Amino acid sequence: MPKLQKYIHKISKYKKKLRKILNRIGISYSEEFELIDETPKKLLLPCYLGILFCGDFEINNLFNKIKIYLNTVYDSFFFDIRNLGAYNFTAELFSKGVKREYKEMKKSSGVIKIHPTNKFYQILINKRNEESLGMIIALTDLPIYSSSEDNILFLFGETHLKHRCCVVSSLKLRELGKNENNKLFETRIVKEIIHEVGHLILGSNHCPNEVCVMRFSNNVDEVDNKSLDLCDLCNTKLLGIQDSYNF
Ligand SMILES: [Zn+2]
Ligand SMILES: [Zn+2]
Repeated sequence: MPKLQKYIHKISKYKKKLRKILNRIGISYSEEFELIDETPKKLLLPCYLGILFCGDFEINNLFNKIKIYLNTVYDSFFFDIRNLGAYNFTAELFSKGVKREYKEMKKSSGVIKIHPTNKFYQILINKRNEESLGMIIALTDLPIYSSSEDNILFLFGETHLKHRCCVVSSLKLRELGKNENNKLFETRIVKEIIHEVGHLILGSNHCPNEVCVMRFSNNVDEVDNKSLDLCDLCNTKLLGIQDSYNF
């Protein structure tokens, strides 16, 4: 046993070293985004929800599908779900906060550039205020890393509860598998959006139920294994929230 502990200690030392090297080849943390929100009001329900698309998507079809499912799972939680259309980064903003990832280099010709979630949150905060929305989602095909969790790369999605916004990245949801098709890809996107909106309404906890949409997914298989729906327990919580807001 002591031998094993020594081994684990050694590994964690290497991990620290590796992280330092990663930081050196990537960006410096001084470029990190600090979120500015002049009017962070508490979430009121029902509310208006907006969806912003940052990437190459068949926006109208996809939006309609997302809207139908969100209105089914979170029935009567939204006055309306609005299509905010495409967002185009300026060259300067696009490169800001970008981290270079070497792990994927073997598989691809170049370095993968990953974008910080805070960059999306700031865009979303501004847009949410501008459009007087209760909550807002960004869907992007860019790879994203968490601005708050150092070691998480390639997120499917993340939510900022205080600022009532979330971002979902479709990049890893497109991973090729058996019977891969566009319908499956879109279903995965819908699942992860239902999941992040679930956080905005139900809070930051994950559900242990294997088929519940609020279960945390480590990989695409786990996304495929869960349903598009909340489990009974999460649904009961949802009804409780509905009760507390009187609608
Ligand atoms: Zn989650
Ligand atoms: Zn659940």
